[in-house]
Amino acid sequence: MTVAGWLADARRIVVLTGAGISTDSGIPDFRGPNGVWTRDPEAAKLVTLESYVADPEVRRRAWLGRRDHPAWSAEPNAAHRALVDLEGTGRLRAIVTQNIDGLHQRAGSDPDLVVEIHGTLYEVECLSCARRTGMAETLRRVAEGEPDPDCRSCGGILKSATISFGQQLDRRTLVRAATAAADADLFLAVGTSLTVQPAAGLLEVAARGGARLVIVNASPTPYDRLADAVLREPIGEVLPALVAG
Ligand code: ZN
Repeated sequence: MTVAGWLADARRIVVLTGAGISTDSGIPDFRGPNGVWTRDPEAAKLVTLESYVADPEVRRRAWLGRRDHPAWSAEPNAAHRALVDLEGTGRLRAIVTQNIDGLHQRAGSDPDLVVEIHGTLYEVECLSCARRTGMAETLRRVAEGEPDPDCRSCGGILKSATISFGQQLDRRTLVRAATAAADADLFLAVGTSLTVQPAAGLLEVAARGGARLVIVNASPTPYDRLADAVLREPIGEVLPALVAG
């Protein structure tokens, strides 16, 4: 049977998405061959929690990076839309995403189905009191002359509600992702190098639960041998074709 046939037969589909699904939307990959951090290791320091907390200059640069983030002008692409179509069949249980760009929701995916394990760029969190506010209103403060806006409740340091290096992932979010993976009968990993835990480990969880594993990624991953099928074609072509059957 073809991969499209597996997808058509599956009843509890879980999709894991990584940076590769958003590159067609103009959002650069971080760890790929042309990735932001591959080309500029210094840039990775901007997302290290320790340096962010210690150094106001790192925070000022980080706020400018958020202001200029390609997500604000990016549009969802054919692969994001294919997952909306898949949801329409009533068999998609979760989209677990490593992306912070909000493009699944903007494409029309039900926000309740999107599990953002690395957080979201659309919200800001206080590192002291955990109060959440909108990114847009905080970027307005930056534009109005506050290079490092602080929490209006407690004066604490604000950061995008994304997971930085050295920062714990949200436990409830992880449990949600793992529960969905364990219950899946088909697990589809799209555009992720599967080198970052715990996202990659979700494949093992799904496999133990008996799910069929399909990987769609341009380059090899450490899990290719575990997968039932590995597809190397461009995501923006292969995903719509799979969903259409
Ligand atoms: Zn606060």
